[in-house]
Amino acid sequence: MTVNTLIDEKAIQKRIKELALKIEQDYSNEEIVLIITLKGAVFFATELAKSLSLPTIIDFIKVSSYSGTQSTGEISFNLDISENISGKNVLIIEDIVDTGRTLTYLKEYLGKKNPKSLKICTLLDKKERREFELLPEYVGFEIPDKFVVGYGLDYDEKYRNLPFIGYIEQ
Ligand code: 5GP
Repeated sequence: MTVNTLIDEKAIQKRIKELALKIEQDYSNEEIVLIITLKGAVFFATELAKSLSLPTIIDFIKVSSYSGTQSTGEISFNLDISENISGKNVLIIEDIVDTGRTLTYLKEYLGKKNPKSLKICTLLDKKERREFELLPEYVGFEIPDKFVVGYGLDYDEKYRNLPFIGYIEQ
């Protein structure tokens, strides 16, 4: 299997800096809680967090809906957040939005915990695949309908450590 580059490391880093700047402006020095979705968003989230000069709290959540390259259509809940987010500005950090199922579920789940604000920041957006009405507030890159790996994204748990976003050619 060959992995072709879709977005190189330099372009990703440049875009993350731009997103961080936008987030800083929008939250004007208020505290935020970054809720990082495991495992895929970890690489993106740490880079983004390091570029943010806001008072920042980090937490993690893990749900899954994928196996191989196919969505199973069902969400399973694997790890919950540990912070109390009531009255806080919450920003969900995601690797990729595809059908929108995972984030629709997460937004509803976290929304019940009464955050002051609840937004989504995703590195990648496969907009044309959307089945659930969901508009992330911050999007790194809109990408075509290809199965991508790297920069945290896996294919059966492999390729997460690639420093770029690529797609697999069989
Ligand atoms: P959704 O619930 O929006 O359909 O899918 C979101 C999740 O599906 C992502 O968090 C990710 O785990 C997985 N996913 C969707 N598209 C891709 C892709 O192209 N590559 C990889 N590696 N995972 C994907």
